[in-house]
Amino acid sequence: MSNSVQAIRGMNDLLPETVAYWQWVEDVARDVMDSYGYRELRLPLLEKTDLFKRSIGEVTDIVEKEMYTFDDRNGDSLTLRPEGTASCVRAAIENGMLHNQVHRLWYAGPMFRHERPQKGRYRQFHQIGAETFGMEGPDVDAELILLTARLWHELGIDDVRLEINSLGTVETRNAHRKELVTYLRDHYDALDDDSKRRLEQNPLRILDSKNPDVQKIVASAPSLLDHLSDESRDHFERLQAYLDDAGIEYEVNPCLVRGLDYYSRTVFEWITSELGAQGTICAGGRYDGLVEQLGGKSTPAAGFALGMERLVELVQAQNPDAVESPIDAYLVCLGDAAQSLGIKLSEQLRSQGVNIICHCGGGSVKSQMKKADKSGARYAVILGDDEIQAGEAGVKFLRETGEQQQVMFDALADILTKD
Ligand code: ATP
Ligand code: MG
Repeated sequence: MSNSVQAIRGMNDLLPETVAYWQWVEDVARDVMDSYGYRELRLPLLEKTDLFKRSIGEVTDIVEKEMYTFDDRNGDSLTLRPEGTASCVRAAIENGMLHNQVHRLWYAGPMFRHERPQKGRYRQFHQIGAETFGMEGPDVDAELILLTARLWHELGIDDVRLEINSLGTVETRNAHRKELVTYLRDHYDALDDDSKRRLEQNPLRILDSKNPDVQKIVASAPSLLDHLSDESRDHFERLQAYLDDAGIEYEVNPCLVRGLDYYSRTVFEWITSELGAQGTICAGGRYDGLVEQLGGKSTPAAGFALGMERLVELVQAQNPDAVESPIDAYLVCLGDAAQSLGIKLSEQLRSQGVNIICHCGGGSVKSQMKKADKSGARYAVILGDDEIQAGEAGVKFLRETGEQQQVMFDALADILTKD
C-alpha cells in the first residue's frame, strides 16, 4: 500500500454498492424533471476563470480560496467549475436562448471546491441543478420548490424542512447594508476574523457565518425583510401564498442568505437534521441580475442546486430498501459441457429480457452457489450433465423459500422474469 498512488484528498471513488443508490436517485430526479418539463443540458467542467469571478463575486469563499484554478498551455486562466449556475447562464447567453424565450433547464455532474474535507463536504462533489430563465413572478419560484418537494417524496425521504427568505433588490440590500454595518461595528470585538474582513467588503455574508458565536450576534441584527420594496414584499407574500395553497410547510428565516452574491428576492434551503453539520441538501433562489452581469440581455432567472452526496446519504439512511439488485439469475455451470451450453443459454435468456450472470471459471457446486448468493440474484439456475440430457435446468430460489424446480429451457425466461 505504502508504495501505491492514492486518490486526491476529498475526491472519492464511488463503489458499486453506492452507485446503485446514485443511479436510482438520478433516475427518479430525471423523471421528476421530465414531469415538470425541465430539459437537460450538459456543460463543460472547465470554464474561463473570469466567468466565476464575474458571477459568484470576488469576495466569496469560493472565489477567494476554494477554486481549482490553473493556467493551461496557452497561458489562459481556467477553473474547474465550483458550481453550475454560472456555466448555465453563459451557455444560455452564448447559444442565443434568452431572446424573448422561457426556459426550464437542468444539469447534473461534478463540481470542485478546495474546502476542508469532512462528512458531507468534499473537494469533488456532485450536484443536480435546475435553472429557469425568462419568468419573473413568484409562481416559478414556487414551482421550483414544489419540484424539489416532489423529489423528496418520490425518494421516500422526510425530515427535510424548508427555509425561505427574500433578499430584495440591490437597492434594498444597500439600504440594509448601512444599518447592518453600524450594528456589526457595535459588536466588532465579538466577530471572527472572516467576519471582520467581510464587514467592509460584503457584510451580508456575515449573516451566513457558520461560527456559532457570530450566529448569536447575527440573530439580533437588523433584518433585510424590514427594507423590502413594495414589489419585493408582494413577490415574497405571493410565494408564501402559493406554498400555503400547495400545503408545503416552511419557515421564514431572515438570516438565510446565500453564499453566492448573485441572488435577489427569493432564497430557499432544504435542511435535514439527519446528517449533522452538513445538513443543507438543496439551496436555491432567484438571481435576476446575473444574466446582465455576464453580458446578456437582462433576464429574470431562478434555480436551485442539490448536493448528491448528502442526498444519497439521506436516502440510504431513510429508504435503504429502495434499491434492488438488477440481477435476476446466476447460472451455475457444472462441467465443460454445461459451461459451453451455459454461455449460449445465457445469451438466449438475455435476448428474452433476463439479467443473468453466467458463472465463469469452473469450481464446485458449493463455491458457485456461494457466488450466486453474493451476486444479489433472485434465482440460481443450475446446469449439469443430467440437466443437459433432459433439456432442462434446476431453478433454486435464493431470496425466498421454495423447492428447487426442474424447468425446461424454453420455459426458463418466463419463470426468471416473473415478479
Ligand atoms: P454550504 O453552506 O454547505 O457550504 P453552499 O452554500 O456552499 O453550501 P451551494 O453552493 O448553494 O452550497 O451548493 C448547493 C448544495 O450543494 C449545497 O446545499 C450542498 O448540498 C451541496 N454542496 C456544496 N458544497 C459541497 C461540498 N463541498 N461537498 C458536498 N456537497 C456540497
Ligand atoms: Mg460552501
